[in-house]
Amino acid sequence: MFVPRSLKVKRNSNDDIKSCVAKKIKPEGEDLQLDQGRDVSVYTSVTEEATTPDRPSSQSGPFPGLAGPLREDASVGPEQGAEEPVKSFSKTQRWAEPGEPVCVVCGRYGEYICDKTDEDVCSLECKAKHLLQVKEKEENLKLSSPEKVGSEPESALDAAFYIYKEHPFILNLQEDQIENLKQQLGISVQGQEVTRPIIDFEHCGFPETLNHNLKKSGYEVPTPIQMQMIPVGLLGRDILASADTGSGKTAAFLLPVIIRALLESRAPSALVLTPTRELAIQIERQAKELMSGLPRMRTVLLVGGLPLPPQLYRLRQHVQVIIATPGRLLDIIKQSSVALSGIKIVVVDEDKKLFKPPVLVFVDCRLGADLLSEAVQKITGLKSTSMHSEKSQVERKNILEGLLEGEYEVVVSTGVLGRGLDLISVGLVVNFDMPSSMDEYVHQVGRVGRLGQNGTAITFINNNSKRLFWDIAKRVKPTGSLLPPQLLSSPYLHDQKKKEQQKDKQTQKDMVTGANLMDIIRKHDKSNSQK
Ligand code: AMP
Repeated sequence: MFVPRSLKVKRNSNDDIKSCVAKKIKPEGEDLQLDQGRDVSVYTSVTEEATTPDRPSSQSGPFPGLAGPLREDASVGPEQGAEEPVKSFSKTQRWAEPGEPVCVVCGRYGEYICDKTDEDVCSLECKAKHLLQVKEKEENLKLSSPEKVGSEPESALDAAFYIYKEHPFILNLQEDQIENLKQQLGISVQGQEVTRPIIDFEHCGFPETLNHNLKKSGYEVPTPIQMQMIPVGLLGRDILASADTGSGKTAAFLLPVIIRALLESRAPSALVLTPTRELAIQIERQAKELMSGLPRMRTVLLVGGLPLPPQLYRLRQHVQVIIATPGRLLDIIKQSSVALSGIKIVVVDEDKKLFKPPVLVFVDCRLGADLLSEAVQKITGLKSTSMHSEKSQVERKNILEGLLEGEYEVVVSTGVLGRGLDLISVGLVVNFDMPSSMDEYVHQVGRVGRLGQNGTAITFINNNSKRLFWDIAKRVKPTGSLLPPQLLSSPYLHDQKKKEQQKDKQTQKDMVTGANLMDIIRKHDKSNSQK
């Protein structure tokens, strides 16, 4: 019924729910060892001894890539300690620690594997729910295409021999009909011998399961970008495509990616790079919908702002399609030995419209940063974070990564820490607290308008920074900004201005020029003779 994760389970071949018991959690050190073993040898370490007769061996199952110690289910030996019954209810299960498997139904710790589906579940309750969901899905499939029920291997076979050929209907169209169609749909193409667009998804000759998934997702007819991109992608050609947001680009690249991934025995076979975490999540959701029921199709999301270990864990599970943001992918390449060399398709989904440069707010203390960040999020609903010296290196790195990935809209920082944010392009700087020196002020304001982009800086001043009033006015005036009358009429400003002018006069007086040279010599001689 269940296959235990990392710990052995006493199972009887009748798989009676009541007889399915898991071992008590081992002492921490031992657990750790097991987990490490699981991670490093996930594809290879299922021994014959560890494979019960009622389960296929790791290599013979329909999902060969899911082999490994996760499937360990030998009988309980004397050294295994006391047994603990399989948890009945989801609520009695704890939440997953970073890096641990997650229940597909409720998101708690996926302590067991449902042997019917190979999915992670936390309890008998969730397993039952999960099987019910799977059954419902199968029923739906039966209703829509009765002849294909239970035909996963068949669809794998379909896919294994898949070659895109222009559909007879498309082939029989005249050249001017095609041109007319493209013109009407606003399709403009450059390149040599670009294949004709399709008009219907059926013209692609997809496996039935994929056609079913398209219908289920409400994709009745392809959008123009899909009409042209899908056949070109299916032929394995490189494409540079541009279309409006919401025009169906994601499915336009995902469908050829899915077909290619089905043809590949090595994993991973495709990498989708996106600028933001949100976009990556949307793409994965769509990929999962389209891949549903297709054999060996797994995805992994590698994005910043979420713990790294579960992502690394998932990456090692023979996933076919990686959806990643660049920062997190670089981290993983640096830290992990996971081979990414099988990747044949790289999709770069760049939608600049989705990336808004963040607002950078400077304050003068840590508490101020935390409080203001919370207040901004609460009142404006903008995703906000704080940056100050109490944040650990890891937290700082995550914040920077989140900013680069467009995850935060506002960051409230203390001045010194703000210097670490040099990498990000900022649309607006707010000096919520005016810094104590003009140098710092110039540095903070300088965060906007990098790389030829325009930016805005808003500075709040009060009497705490009164000694800088005249300096601020001098600095800001040449930019053409209107200065508030309260500042311009401030007695402090006038006092500072006057003092500066007097100082200038004095300096000028002290300066040696042709005109005053003789006066200075005479004065000097006079004072010497008096001595
Ligand atoms: P995208 O431009 O890829 O973000 O897609 C925008 C929305 O259109 C998404 O919600 C898709 O699920 C949906 N979509 C994509 N292709 C089609 C289609 N052929 N028919 C209906 N909806 C679609």
